[in-house]
Amino acid sequence: MGDELVLVTGGSGFLGAHCIVALLERGYRVRTTVRSMDRQVEVWAALDMAGLPDAAVEIVAADLTSDAGWAEAVAGCDYVLHTASPFPVNAPKDENELIVPARDGALRVLSASRDAGVKRVVLTSSFAAVGYGHRPGDTDFTEADWSNPDADIGAYTKSKTLAERAAWDFIAADGGTLELAVVNPVAIIGPVLGPKLSASIELVRRLLSGGMPGLPRISTALVDVRDVADLHLRAMVDPAAAGERFLAVAGPALGMEQMAHILRTRLGDEGSKMPTRVLPDWLVRAAAVFVPALRQLVPRLGVVRNASNAKAVGTLGWAPRPVGDSLVDTARSLQKLGML
Ligand code: NAP
Repeated sequence: MGDELVLVTGGSGFLGAHCIVALLERGYRVRTTVRSMDRQVEVWAALDMAGLPDAAVEIVAADLTSDAGWAEAVAGCDYVLHTASPFPVNAPKDENELIVPARDGALRVLSASRDAGVKRVVLTSSFAAVGYGHRPGDTDFTEADWSNPDADIGAYTKSKTLAERAAWDFIAADGGTLELAVVNPVAIIGPVLGPKLSASIELVRRLLSGGMPGLPRISTALVDVRDVADLHLRAMVDPAAAGERFLAVAGPALGMEQMAHILRTRLGDEGSKMPTRVLPDWLVRAAAVFVPALRQLVPRLGVVRNASNAKAVGTLGWAPRPVGDSLVDTARSLQKLGML
């Protein structure tokens, strides 16, 4: 390790900030990109909240939609963790608003990294690139599965699938000596390091703050952001990770009712605003006509998608924490920021 330099793209993001913290804690030198320098305050605020106010992180500007800044961002780096990608709460009208920056941005990062002699890029893909566009079967999804981008899977899911496909194609055709490893997280929760919330945290915040009239019958597998950052670092250095993708998932999918039950039990009075009533599917479908945020939930009603973490655990020695702890730590961090 010594003085190895790692670039984290998207340092203003939820996962990006935690990757920076994990790298600093393990003695790496860190550079990060923000899409414009006025976002750098968010990186400093996150480091402050993580207890690293004096960390020597270099911040540079680079947008996924432009070539400018990427050569400078990767110069001298040993590794790159490419976490940046658009992840909005509501789907845009034009899917290309997500697909173009996700796919072309990944290709910009990879080609700049190859040209600069970076050893390995770890790309943050998603379970979105694994488990959509076909009905879940009887077995858990594994790294051998791919989402079908020709099915009606939604703009974000499509953006992650096409970006990861493009990344592997680039490495096969033009990667030179550059290595690629990919991490595919399910929904990420855990302590937030600032008030700008990732779309996955927004769901937990709405649940906790009483912003939901009831519990829709949707399930999601979860993973802690600190464990996803840890998996990125393992995938960055372990020789066995080169050319491989790794699902990041803590355990079986939980329904909203189960999540609410865990939080109510563990938080006591602080969890009292959460609804207890399960919403019938017809009501969610009807409400989705008027509430854009609900529209993305409709295709997920009653569908359970489970994924296996056997590869990350077996190959890289990854050991994710229990999701109950992650849910509580998410809630506590939102409370600390006055966001509930
Ligand atoms: P986030 O907090 O919204 O972070 C996204 C990051 O991407 C931000 O730093 C954002 O910058 C940056 N970004 C977006 N568009 C950009 C552009 N055009 N140019 C440069 N930077 C841009 O979301 P997150 O949860 O940390 O997600 C991080 C990664 O994990 C993403 O690749 C996401 O797809 C993936 N992922 C997330 C989850 C989850 O549940 N959270 C699950 C699976 C995979 P700004 O701050 O300037 O917007």
